[in-house]
Amino acid sequence: MKYIMAMDAGTTSARCILFDHSGTICAMAQRELTVTFPKEGWVEQDAREIWEAQLAVCHEALQKAGLTGEDIAAIGIPNQRETTIVWDRQTGEPVGPAIVWQCRRTAEAADALKRRGLADSIRRKTGLIIDAYFSATKLQWILDRDKSVRARAECGELLFGTVESWLIWNLTGGVVHCTEYSNAARTMLFNIHTLDWDEDILRELNIPRQMLPQPVPSSGVMAETEVFGARIPIAGAAGDQQAALFGQNCFEPGEAKNTYGTGCFLLMNTGTQPVESRNGLLTTVAWGFDGTVSYALEGSVFVAGAAIQWLRDELGLIHSAAETEELAYRIADTGGVYLVPAFVGLGAPYWDSYARGTLVGMTRGTGRAHIVRAALESLAYQTADVLEAMQNDSGIALRALKADGGASRNNFLMEFQGDIVGVPIVRPQCVETTALGAAYLAGLAVGYWNDVEEIRRNTATDRIFAPQMSQEQRERLMKDWHRAVQCASGWAVPADR
Ligand code: ADP
Repeated sequence: MKYIMAMDAGTTSARCILFDHSGTICAMAQRELTVTFPKEGWVEQDAREIWEAQLAVCHEALQKAGLTGEDIAAIGIPNQRETTIVWDRQTGEPVGPAIVWQCRRTAEAADALKRRGLADSIRRKTGLIIDAYFSATKLQWILDRDKSVRARAECGELLFGTVESWLIWNLTGGVVHCTEYSNAARTMLFNIHTLDWDEDILRELNIPRQMLPQPVPSSGVMAETEVFGARIPIAGAAGDQQAALFGQNCFEPGEAKNTYGTGCFLLMNTGTQPVESRNGLLTTVAWGFDGTVSYALEGSVFVAGAAIQWLRDELGLIHSAAETEELAYRIADTGGVYLVPAFVGLGAPYWDSYARGTLVGMTRGTGRAHIVRAALESLAYQTADVLEAMQNDSGIALRALKADGGASRNNFLMEFQGDIVGVPIVRPQCVETTALGAAYLAGLAVGYWNDVEEIRRNTATDRIFAPQMSQEQRERLMKDWHRAVQCASGWAVPADR
């Protein structure tokens, strides 16, 4: 029996998970990664550490399972997206630190691109809204930091890659320099229609094409590695959210998943045609699989599980996140209390960076449980807003929403989410959907699994939360939520504006 190795290259940790044919986890190893914050808003990692930790956890997982490289049928890589690495083609030495997706150092550079009137064309070509989040301005920053870096890049001495690209380059001893479509789609340099780097954008941003990796589909043998003592195909890769969409079996247009972590990441498969959003969502490649490319709409909620951490760490209302479930069930409703956790502004569909956290509707009878429940409900309301935008953009009515991520363990939240969006919430048994998705992409490419039907049969549901609430009550609650959002909006606008 052979296994599939998922190299889960996250932001907080490098993990390796070995899956068997039934999609069951056979071994797992994990190592924390260092994240540094050298200046306000700056976030960096050490690219060497990312590679070395990833290699170490893979050896560790093999050892734990009593396996060798011979037992691995293929490798799949799900990875943190947008993080930008530049390295020397000869020595493999990174040019400075990896600039992590969260890093805001290029916020002004992104604003400058908007002022140059590039927003529309970039949006049309890449599906993205110009932002420092994506790799393009991070790469510009590295190139402009000192003249010698740009000169070396221009004469072909330096290479650029996102994390999967960097790992594949290292796994092949510097032979293969490729990037997978869904990762390329987050660079803001990649044309999601032609599936190639966009010459106009490269020219506008002054990025030397020769440093860019070769874009390849998410499923298919992209390289082979011998670092585990046998020749193993690297046959799958995808950005973490896209990998989770695949791992959640959202293969058909209209199928969607929401990951309830620190923030929420909602992705809906829109099929083989990219859908342009009119509601501030991103259009992105879901995956290139089986000779076709699927696209997705993506919307994120900045503060989701983080609101629960806030209850615990800043307000001291709870000791643990898990406790919120029992507290919320203790009462019938929040008694009209709403929390809008706009701590860092509001994302889609509001895009209000001046909104701030707001708690409204309190009376003399409001207690701890009401506030805790309002915080949990805020995750569901924010998700409902993004879903509505997705349905409006795509014209597709959702039939079910698949849930994963840390806060999806909360039964109250899942129940309330189903009530407020009016469709069933499906929670899978295996919550490692990101690693599983990349394992599936790899396994399908090498015939370890035959087709997606086989994968569907592998997937076990833990619980389905069917909506119980009346349409009338749902509308009333949403209406009041939107009134609460109005209270939060624009709060931090500077006084002179
Ligand atoms: P990330 O990958 O973003 O670090 P995780 O998927 O590990 O996040 O989920 C952690 C988040 O989920 C935390 O913000 C935490 O507050 C929240 N969380 C974890 N368990 C629960 C729970 N039972 N109820 C509500 N929130 C929870």
